[in-house]
Amino acid sequence: MDEFDFINKIKQNTYHQSGLIKGVGDDAAVFRQTSEDIVTAVDMFVEGVHFSKKTMDAHHIGYKVLAVNVSDIAAMGATPRYYLVSIACPDSYSHTYYEQIFRGMRDFASTYKMDLIGGDTVSGKELAISVTVIGTVHAGKERYRDQAAPGDIVFVTGTLGDSQAGFYILMNQLDGRDMDYFIKKHQLPEPRVHFVKSIKNIKRLVLNDISDGLASETNEIAESSNVSIKLINAYLPVSQHYNQFPYHLQRKWMLYGGEDFELVGTVSKDDWEKVKIAGTETNTKVTKIGNVTNQKVAGGNVVLVENNKVVPLYKEGYRHLK
Ligand code: ADP
Ligand code: MG
Repeated sequence: MDEFDFINKIKQNTYHQSGLIKGVGDDAAVFRQTSEDIVTAVDMFVEGVHFSKKTMDAHHIGYKVLAVNVSDIAAMGATPRYYLVSIACPDSYSHTYYEQIFRGMRDFASTYKMDLIGGDTVSGKELAISVTVIGTVHAGKERYRDQAAPGDIVFVTGTLGDSQAGFYILMNQLDGRDMDYFIKKHQLPEPRVHFVKSIKNIKRLVLNDISDGLASETNEIAESSNVSIKLINAYLPVSQHYNQFPYHLQRKWMLYGGEDFELVGTVSKDDWEKVKIAGTETNTKVTKIGNVTNQKVAGGNVVLVENNKVVPLYKEGYRHLK
């Protein structure tokens, strides 16, 4: 099987998006978009850096690389519509392995009616996948991180630290309560696309997806908006059996772990009720975790109130090119 047979195998026979004019099969894809703004993002995933065969099978890899990218699109307030995939394929993997990667992507994509409209397939020494997602958003409804204002409520969706807990379970072959739940959170994350749609009528709202950990994402919001953020440790939401892990790890994963692909946001007190209603409507847990202030807080842009003490929270997520 060569590149062309392979493309034929992964190609969709039918497409979901009505705006699509030309998908896979020509020099480039064509789609028509008349009224909404286009939102696009790309992410690159390299074996050994972003994922490992030890903890992820081919299907998980495909599913997650697309989910991670869609999470960025959702955090902009947009609806994902199309994706393109460039892949460098080492000979050491079977064709079935690559097909399973694309099957994983398609399983994710079909939930949101997304279409694979192009890409590039090359041979390579290491498995590397680059995914580009294209979404749309009603003009003026983009959710920028520089829009936080003093007095806003800071909230998160879902629970924190589960993905890293799942990774820890896989790496250490642990046994305990809800192991499958944590593992699934790591291997098959669900970005908050539906929730984002249901808060689209709120005028001003900030969203960031938690790819690098709560500390890092809240610092980005505070820096961009030129405000300070005060978080309350006791408010941070965790899942039911999260407390079975060593305390120092619980704390680390919750604040710095990342890969939860939940959303952290800020919204005015007046609109907070609408956020809670959207949570109920889309079956999304939303929790108030702190406030935005214009007072400079000691030691940093973001602080955590923990056991009656105020500690600064710095960006401590994973860094490339450090
Ligand atoms: P070209 O030489 O014109 O770039 P290619 O052989 O690279 O053509 O690709 C042929 C078609 O298959 C194009 O529509 C391209 O977007 C699509 N394609 C190639 N690789 C992938 C891939 N990994 N995923 C999705 N579509 C792909
Ligand atoms: Mg090409």
